[in-house]
Amino acid sequence: MIKFLPRLVLFAAGFVALTPTLALAQSTSAQPTEPRTIFIKCGRLLNGKSDQVRTNIVLAITGDKVSEVGTAAAKGEVVDLSRETCLPGLIDTHTHVLLQGDITAADYDAQLLKQSPEYRTILGTVNARRALDYGFTTVRDLETEGAGYADVDIRNAIDRGVIPGPRMQVATRALDVTGAYPLLGYAPNVPVPHGVQVVNGADEARKAVREQIMYGTDWIKVYSDRSYKVRDDGILDDIPTFTMDELRAIVDEAHRERHKVASHAMALNGVHNSVEAGVDSIEHGNYIADADLKTMAAKGIYYVPTIFVGEYVAQGRAAEGAPVWMKMLSIHEDTFRRVQKAGVKIAFGTDAGGFDWKVNPAKEFAYMVKWGMTPTQAIRSATSIAADLLGMQDKIGTIEPGKLADIVAVPDDPLADITALERVDFVMKGGVVYRKPGQ
Ligand SMILES: [Zn+2]
Repeated sequence: MIKFLPRLVLFAAGFVALTPTLALAQSTSAQPTEPRTIFIKCGRLLNGKSDQVRTNIVLAITGDKVSEVGTAAAKGEVVDLSRETCLPGLIDTHTHVLLQGDITAADYDAQLLKQSPEYRTILGTVNARRALDYGFTTVRDLETEGAGYADVDIRNAIDRGVIPGPRMQVATRALDVTGAYPLLGYAPNVPVPHGVQVVNGADEARKAVREQIMYGTDWIKVYSDRSYKVRDDGILDDIPTFTMDELRAIVDEAHRERHKVASHAMALNGVHNSVEAGVDSIEHGNYIADADLKTMAAKGIYYVPTIFVGEYVAQGRAAEGAPVWMKMLSIHEDTFRRVQKAGVKIAFGTDAGGFDWKVNPAKEFAYMVKWGMTPTQAIRSATSIAADLLGMQDKIGTIEPGKLADIVAVPDDPLADITALERVDFVMKGGVVYRKPGQ
C-alpha cells in the first residue's frame, strides 16, 4: 500500500487527458498546463459520511480532485445529473478479477488446468472494466487463485492508464498449508497447480510473506479454515489450517513490513485463531462467536461478510454433496445481525469472481439491508468504511474538497430502494468520466 499511493498521484494528472499518449506528452511538457475544472450538477447527493441527503448540489472537479461541493452556479463544461443521485465511487473490498465463478470444484479446476495465466489475465482485464462500469472505482482483489502475480500487473496497467479499471489493492497468491486448498483429489503421482502458495511452518510462512511483498503485493491473504460442518448446537465448525505459531508469524511479518492481513475465516476456529493472531479483516465470517466479536470490536478488526456469493454457490455445492452450504445461510444471517450489535466495523465485500462477473456485485447491498442494515449504513460500508479498511480514507470514500473525484450516480433514490445501486449509469474515477447516462 505504501507503494500504491505515490503511483496514484503520479499518474492521476495524466488521466485527465484520457489517453496514455497524451498523458505522457503532458507529463513531459516543459510548461504544465493548469488543470481544467468541470462541474457536475447532482439532483441529490449522498456524501458517504453523513445520513443527510443534500439536493441540487454542484460539484466542481479540478484535475483529479473534488475542489468544491456547494450550490455555486455551474459554468463551462457541465455534466447534468440533476435527475440523479450522486454518491462516492463504490468500493468492493473482496474481489477476484482472475476468477470466472467457481460453483463446483470442476469449475475451479478447469480454470487452473485448462487456462494459461496469460489467458486468465486477459479475462481479468475484462472483469476490471466490468467492475468500473458497475460503479466500483476501487477494489481490494483478494488473491489470483493460481494466476501468480497477474493481479500486480493488472493493478499497474490500470494505474498507468494502459487499461480502464478500478484502483486496486491486490493480495497476489495467498497462503495456505499442504492439503488444505484446491486443486485436491488428484493421484499422488500427478503434479497439479494450487490456488495458493503452500507453506508449512513459521519460517516458510515468513519467507512467503517476504516474497509476495517483494513481487508487489499490497495485502497478505491467508486461508485460516476449511472443511465446514454444523454441530448439534448449531455452531458452524471447521478445521483450522495454520497453527497459531504459523498464523502469528504471518501477521507479525506482514505488519513488520507495513502490510495488512486479510483472513478467509468462515467458522468457529478459523475466526478465533485469526482474531487472536491480530489479522486486519475477517473475510466471510459465516459464524463468529460472541467473545471473538468483542475482540474484533476492541482491536478494530473489520468484518467483510460476502453474503450474496453464499447463496449463489449454495445449491450447486449442495448438489455436489456438501449440503452444509445450504445451512450456512441462516447461520450467516444470525452472525451478521450479531456483528451489527457488537459494534464491529463492516466493510462491503462481495467475492465477485467467486460468482460470474456478468452478475452485478452490487446485488450484495440488498442482502445487507434485508439482514438489518439501513440503506445509509450499507452505502457507508462500501464508501467511507471501506476506504478506512484500505487505509485510503484521506483520498477516497467520501465526496469532499481535496479528495479524489471518484463519483458515481444512479437514476433512482437508493435510500428508498437499495437495488438502485445495481443501476449505476455515471462513473467518474479520478476526474475522468468512464460512463455517462444513456451510454
Ligand atoms: Zn474470495
